[in-house]
Amino acid sequence: MTDKTLIRYGKKVTTQIREKNGVKYIVFPDIEKLGFVDHLFSTRIGGVSKGDYATMNLSYTRGDDKECVDENYRRIAEVLGHGKTLDDFVCTFQTHTTNIRVVTEGDRGKGPARVRDYTDIDGLITNVPGIILGTFHADCPPIYIVDPVKRAIGLVHSGWKGTQGEIGKKAIEKMSATYGTEPCDCVCAIGPSICGECYEIGEDVALEFAKAYTEKELEDNKILVPYPNNKYRLYLWNAIKLSLLKAGVPDKNIIVTDICTKCNPELLFSHRVHGEKRGNLMAFLTIND
Ligand SMILES: [Zn+2]
Repeated sequence: MTDKTLIRYGKKVTTQIREKNGVKYIVFPDIEKLGFVDHLFSTRIGGVSKGDYATMNLSYTRGDDKECVDENYRRIAEVLGHGKTLDDFVCTFQTHTTNIRVVTEGDRGKGPARVRDYTDIDGLITNVPGIILGTFHADCPPIYIVDPVKRAIGLVHSGWKGTQGEIGKKAIEKMSATYGTEPCDCVCAIGPSICGECYEIGEDVALEFAKAYTEKELEDNKILVPYPNNKYRLYLWNAIKLSLLKAGVPDKNIIVTDICTKCNPELLFSHRVHGEKRGNLMAFLTIND
């Protein structure tokens, strides 16, 4: 895998691929320049897992060896720097809900270091510096949410069900209720995930998804495009962007990934390419100590 073989989506380059201690990861320079947060999206490169999980698998529940996953988290912690350890991560318990957890100091380590004492949580928000929020991915988009004014953050898993349920908007609303966040201050990034050209769905899912939108919304925003044989292409990134705009986030503050997981299966795990025999990627977001 060289950067030359990376396939980027669209004309606007919004991400950079970096490498530290052999670990390759993806960042959004526009999030980075906000200064008070650290973030990354993991790739398959630079971990110790073997076989279908090779090499940077960050899921404990897909059959990989715990020791390997622990070491992979340690390597991610080193990339994030500031003396981070496994005790600083807090992870979702994803079941395609729109439930958001307010993460507090008492949650520190829930994921790699301690048992998560919650289920059905697809989004996390916090204002506690040093806690690393983490969500799991292999085609479904992450949404990074940063409020530089109230110094609060959110990170959500937004697959088609979460997107339809507007989990990104719900996270911002919860940040408003909890931290006084104004949506117009938020900077959001839709992370590496499946692009619209790759995301072919059947009529059943298309009809179900379409229920949440008017016909005009679907057409004007290129969310659902019919395809031969009763197939559709679902442009999740466009649907998420519409939902963030509706939440009150300014257009200029919404950054969309230019990297598709399915287009780049050597660099990234893709459910559509690898099926169940794969590891998980993760999105991470933390407020600097
Ligand atoms: Zn693609």
